[in-house]
Amino acid sequence: MPGCASVGCSNSSTKGFVMKRLPRDSERRKQWLVKMKRDKWKPTDNTYLCEVHFASAMWQKTRVDGTRKLKSNTVPTIFSFSSLEGKKRKAPTGRAPIPKLVLPVGQL
Ligand SMILES: [Zn+2]
Repeated sequence: MPGCASVGCSNSSTKGFVMKRLPRDSERRKQWLVKMKRDKWKPTDNTYLCEVHFASAMWQKTRVDGTRKLKSNTVPTIFSFSSLEGKKRKAPTGRAPIPKLVLPVGQL
């Protein structure tokens, strides 16, 4: 299963999060991407966002079978960068810095 497409978020279904696929409708998908600040980015049909980006009011009542569905016109609003707005930009996570090679001393 893919992980969350949000910048700086590494949640996935294997960690127990509910994953929501991006809407198929191009207008709504665009809105999601704008919220994700990834509107220049091309998602695939396997692009997911995890549940933490949706406010509790965006969810329909939990069904009898325990599944949780979003309301039809929901857009994700909760992103970690929203609290960083205007402040120093966080370096993109997800891509770990390449560790410097440590050469064994004495073998040069
Ligand atoms: Zn996420």
